[in-house]
Amino acid sequence: MTPKLLIDTHVHLNNYHESERRPTAENVQILFSEMDALGVDHAVVITSYKVNQDRPSAEEVLDLLAGDPRATIVEGLRWRGEERTDLFTLEERIQDGIVKGIKLYPGYDLYPINDPSLEAVFRIAAKHDVPVMIHTGDTYSRTAKVRMAHPLLVDDVAVDHPDVKIVMCHLGNPWFQDAAEVLYKNDNVFADISGLTLGKFTYEFERYVAMRLKEMIIYMGDPGKQLMYGSDWPLVEMGPYLRFLEELEFAPEDLEHIAWQTAAALFKIDTAPLLARRAARETP
Ligand SMILES: [Zn+2]
Repeated sequence: MTPKLLIDTHVHLNNYHESERRPTAENVQILFSEMDALGVDHAVVITSYKVNQDRPSAEEVLDLLAGDPRATIVEGLRWRGEERTDLFTLEERIQDGIVKGIKLYPGYDLYPINDPSLEAVFRIAAKHDVPVMIHTGDTYSRTAKVRMAHPLLVDDVAVDHPDVKIVMCHLGNPWFQDAAEVLYKNDNVFADISGLTLGKFTYEFERYVAMRLKEMIIYMGDPGKQLMYGSDWPLVEMGPYLRFLEELEFAPEDLEHIAWQTAAALFKIDTAPLLARRAARETP
């Protein structure tokens, strides 16, 4: 069963291998061609916690994508490195509606999810009603501190900022049970199912993750309320991840929420041009 639309709430334009170093404009083209090939209508593009030749700045990504109906831009917070996010500039972009969310990288950037210094960031999110995405669980870096990204810490910020909508990324992998509790307890917390593998799934690991996710859903109750589809492309391949979504066998109504409706509401994505584009493609 195919949902009416498909929004991938979690993609990046970074280069992850020196051997495949490409300009950002080229990565955008690859992203759009993958999306077209697989029927993904829209992507939430997330910038990094650092900027270098492999990690484009928010400015660069905005130059390439602002105004494109197929993309929403979420700005990564650069909080502990040399070049830090200027909150005034970030707030201006949010106010202008070109940045539609903030992403925190606890553990990678060395602070915990409940760090008091983030107060100002959550205040901006509350004021402009934009979601705060938070990396949780396993880190794709040996220098990151994974304890700082434990999903249980999301409860602290969800309670302290009840007017902020929070997206827990990667379901706290491998602390799925803790993530399920935080979701069950807090109505202002959502989660994307992205990044639960690298590249393609192996058969055993895909079954393992699908089982954990189904257990989470039994605990949480209604999966259509808080879960969203996301891949973590290009770290994850889009095709296998879409098959993983199918394997989770959500009820049709839940699937519509997970595949696009919840994301469209949260990131305030205009779905009219996406539905029109789909209709035009499906009419022979
Ligand atoms: Zn990611």
